[in-house]
Amino acid sequence: MTEATDTAQEIPRGPVGVTVLGATGTIGVNTLDVIARHPAIYRVVALSGNQQVERLAEQCLRFAPEFAVCADGDAAQRLAAQLRQAGSATQVLSGMAGLEEVASLPQVDQVMAAIVGAAGLYPALAAARAGKRVLLANKEALVMSGQVFIDEARRHNAELLPIDSEHNAIFQCLPVDFADGLEEVGVRRILLTASGGPFRDASLDELANVTPAQACAHPNWRMGRKISVDSATMMNKGLELIEACWLFDTTPDNIQVVIHPQSVIHSMVEYIDGSVLAQLGNPDMRTPIAHAMAWPQRMASGVGSLDLFDIARLDFAEPDMVRFPCLRLAYEAMRAGGTAPAILNAANEIAVQAFLDERLPFTAIPVVIEKTLEMTERHEAKNLDVIMVDDRIARETARRLVTEGVR
Ligand code: NAD
Ligand code: MG
Repeated sequence: MTEATDTAQEIPRGPVGVTVLGATGTIGVNTLDVIARHPAIYRVVALSGNQQVERLAEQCLRFAPEFAVCADGDAAQRLAAQLRQAGSATQVLSGMAGLEEVASLPQVDQVMAAIVGAAGLYPALAAARAGKRVLLANKEALVMSGQVFIDEARRHNAELLPIDSEHNAIFQCLPVDFADGLEEVGVRRILLTASGGPFRDASLDELANVTPAQACAHPNWRMGRKISVDSATMMNKGLELIEACWLFDTTPDNIQVVIHPQSVIHSMVEYIDGSVLAQLGNPDMRTPIAHAMAWPQRMASGVGSLDLFDIARLDFAEPDMVRFPCLRLAYEAMRAGGTAPAILNAANEIAVQAFLDERLPFTAIPVVIEKTLEMTERHEAKNLDVIMVDDRIARETARRLVTEGVR
């Protein structure tokens, strides 16, 4: 990561209260790095983690939040003991109730939703229902509950600001007010860029022997293990396609995925007059994090200047849906609608975990997902109960397919 020392633009408000959900993860750590650069503007109200008690304890001692939450009860007890010993005044909560509570406290203005996977849905939704600025990094929440989530955010006047670099880039390339639809503001289509992951040029045979360590070694971005595997299968782009449909109220047919190996352009918006606006920057998540936190203003993030002479060239290619069927499956699930994206997401989470545990070959990940989609009845996604039932059924089916063995 390149460091820069720009001074902060002054933001005319009292300290902004922030809860960081998933503080111990890659996005969480980057968020705290940005916050630490602006101590006069932001105050950490709550931090959450799961199993990484040591890291969460260190973060609590450094940022002195009022609350810390461990999703896991045992971990919460260990954290509480450590903090007590260190003389910290941070109060420790646990479980989903604790996560939802710190996402909706009155003294919190912004909630960084950076818990990975379906576990991030309820806390992010709690933040939306409490009318917070939701800094949405977790993509699974929108993939699972799209319309429900968007409706709740609107109803409670929550601000939904995308952290995913592509969506943040699209947001930056759109006019401030696009609430009446992309057509109204002259958008022809969205160009969603993808690095292509570590196996961009691998043959199908090579893909069959990929190991978890290889899949987690992304060429441009440092990320958690689940999203790293998603990037390698290109399901990450599939989830992002669905996420973009909800965030920008559009359809899969208005979104073209573009392979761009350098990850310098983070996505583009094409207008009806032929203009294409792009957002560029070093691949460092502190840029979208700082953008979304300071929006509509700007503040320093620690990310240095983009060295165009060093980059020298930008390449583009069409995605290959044969070697990367996950992207095709995501397009199909979004077109099918209802709970299909939730089923896709659930099967993906099970298949990715099985791959990481070396119980499933890399190339079987899309097979498990496709079969689960075929075998699970899809419903209209009219409320969370319906969505969570199909999520559970899909997980059971996917687990069975993994155990029985698919090729
Ligand atoms: P990570 O694995 O590094 O961190 C995940 C965080 O979630 C950790 O703090 C962990 O403690 C917490 N967590 C895990 N399981 C949990 C559970 N069951 N209950 C409560 N908390 C739990 O992941 P990451 O790379 O920081 O990604 C976080 C989210 O942001 C993901 O949804 C990912 O898709 C999205 N995202 C990440 C990046 C990136 O560059 N890392 C970019 C865009 C979007
Ligand atoms: Mg992304």
